[in-house]
Amino acid sequence: MAMSDKQAAEAFQAIRWHETDGKPYCPRCRCAALYTYTTRALWKCKACEHQFSVTSGTIFASRKLDIRMILLAIALFVNAAKGISALQLSRDLGVHYRTAYVMSHKLREAMQAEGQLSGEVEVDGMYCGGHVKPENRKEDRIDRRLSENRTGKRQVVVVMRERGGRTLPFVFRSEDESLPTIQSRVAPGSVIHADESPAWDSLHARYLTKRINHKRAYSENGACTNQAESFFSRLRRAEVGTHHHIAGPYLGLYAGEMAWREDNRRVSNGEQYLKLVGAALASGVSRQWKGYGRRRVG
Ligand SMILES: [Zn+2]
Repeated sequence: MAMSDKQAAEAFQAIRWHETDGKPYCPRCRCAALYTYTTRALWKCKACEHQFSVTSGTIFASRKLDIRMILLAIALFVNAAKGISALQLSRDLGVHYRTAYVMSHKLREAMQAEGQLSGEVEVDGMYCGGHVKPENRKEDRIDRRLSENRTGKRQVVVVMRERGGRTLPFVFRSEDESLPTIQSRVAPGSVIHADESPAWDSLHARYLTKRINHKRAYSENGACTNQAESFFSRLRRAEVGTHHHIAGPYLGLYAGEMAWREDNRRVSNGEQYLKLVGAALASGVSRQWKGYGRRRVG
C-alpha cells in the first residue's frame, strides 16, 4: 500500500499492455500513435480519435475505486483461500459494501474458466439449495424426493475435472441437464470417471466411462472421482466458513471462483495476484456488473 497512485497506474499499465512492455495502444484499432494529456490519465488515438484510460475496455471500466484500491482488493481476494465476503472486503478497503460486492463479483467473473478438457476427466454433481424446512410432527412431513414437494430452487453444480489439468464447474437444475455441456467441454477420446448416478449412463455412448459405486468403495477398478469431490469440499468450506449461503443466481460464479482457487493452489500468492490482475484486464467490460453500483437493487 506504499504505492502512489502513479506507481499503481504504471503497474496496471505494465500488466495490461505486457506484450508491448507496458506501452499503451488503441483498444479499438491497435494503433500505437497516441496523444497524451498533461492533466488527465488519458490517451487519444491519432488514427481513430478514440479516447481511453488504462481501464477502458476492461472489467474495471467505469470504476468507482482508484487503481491502487483495485490492486489492493485483488491482493486481499487472492490471499483468502476460502474466499472473502463482500462485508469483510468493504471493511478491509474502507469502502461501501456495495462497491466491495460489485468488485468481488467482477473478480469472480474474471476467474471463470473457458475451453475444453481432455485425458482423464472426473465428472460429479453436488446439489445445493432448495431446502424445505421439515415439519415438526413426523406425520406432517412430506417426501422431498418428489419434485412437487421441492422449492424449485434446488440446483446442481456439475464439475468436470481434468487430472493434472483444469476444473470446469457449471450449474444446472439436474445432472441430466448437464450432458450437452459435458459433451461440448470434454474432448472426444477422453476417459470419464463418474459415480453410480444414472444420469451418467448415457456418457458410455460417447466416452470410455469408468464408474465407481460409492456405496461399495471410493476407488474401484481404476475408477475414482476423488478430485471432483475435493473441489466440492472446497466449495462447501467456502460456504460454511465465508459466505454462509451460496445458492441462487450466483452459485455458478462462486463455483468458478473455487475452481480457480483449486487449480492455482500450488501457485504462490504473488503469482496468483498477477494472474488475476491479468485475467481481469483481459476479460473485457463486464456486461453484468458495469454501472451496477449506480443502480438501486432490491
Ligand atoms: Zn484507434
